[in-house]
Amino acid sequence: MINTNNMTVEQVEQFADAWQHINDASPAAEADPLVLDCARRLAADPGGDRAHVWVSGLVAMSGYLAWRPGAAAERAALDALRAAAKALDSRACSHDGHPYEAAMDSVEDEVWQGDTGLLTGELAARDGGVDAERVLCPRNVAGWARLVTDVLAPLTVRRIPVGAPEDHQSRIDDLSGIVSDYPYCEPDEVLADEAGRLPSRPTRGVLAGYLVTMNATCWYAASERITERSVPEAMIEGIRAALALLSDGECTHGPGEHPDTGDPEHLAQVGYFLRSPGGRAEIAEHHGWDAEEEGDEGDEEGEPLDAWVCAAFLRGLGQEALGALTDALANTSDPIAEPA
Ligand SMILES: [Zn+2]
Ligand SMILES: [Zn+2]
Repeated sequence: MINTNNMTVEQVEQFADAWQHINDASPAAEADPLVLDCARRLAADPGGDRAHVWVSGLVAMSGYLAWRPGAAAERAALDALRAAAKALDSRACSHDGHPYEAAMDSVEDEVWQGDTGLLTGELAARDGGVDAERVLCPRNVAGWARLVTDVLAPLTVRRIPVGAPEDHQSRIDDLSGIVSDYPYCEPDEVLADEAGRLPSRPTRGVLAGYLVTMNATCWYAASERITERSVPEAMIEGIRAALALLSDGECTHGPGEHPDTGDPEHLAQVGYFLRSPGGRAEIAEHHGWDAEEEGDEGDEEGEPLDAWVCAAFLRGLGQEALGALTDALANTSDPIAEPA
């Protein structure tokens, strides 16, 4: 048993080495024990002075945790991360910003590939490094814990800084232009590109975002504005693949608790907001969550925010889009696409 209060540099590096080999393709038999061990150590002292080591471990393994992890490992990781965020966030600090915020723009498909700095900060601190103080600030560690929690359980976390990554913002501009029929891009190209953007192992947020975007744009793609049959065909293929990836968990929502999907421009925006913690913070802010208010769970009256990632809701959106696109293909005879 390693005494975590006196871990040597070698011990920290050994942990880091094991964690960095875990990804979305790791077998549960290999990944679950590492996740459970890391989560237990964090849960044992979630506000402790070693919390940054275990939080960095769960960040490193978030690719696995975001794609069909063992149920016990997922629950243990979420409980420990929530406990850490709560314990660490209550500390006062004099910093006007923290390094995790700068990382939010480069979370590729939501899984953080880079170094959080938390372990190198630990090593730098031993050498008296100055930046280590901000990296190891409890509120920076809490920030990372909240980001991972929101990737695993989208729209259940408060106090995440608002702001989708820049390339998501520009996609929203393109898609909003298309669905409101004032495109300032090449709609055929953009829609075909969107159809091909489903990762093979998406996070819950990315999968939800993909289906919402497909639904938002299906009416335009099914209209006479789009003359290339390959566009609706690519969308149909992508939607079918996305539907096959949805979990078959039961819907826990009551009547009227699923989001209103009547406005394609709003949907086009949400479709990309769903794909990042900063984007989901935009949805939460729009919904009236107070970013500074304590509490980790959505407990508001009315439409629950996490309905945006409900599999039953998303299945309905996907089926609706499939129907519109299939009908459009059946009702058009495109002389170019039909073989003579
Ligand atoms: Zn601070
Ligand atoms: Zn539901």
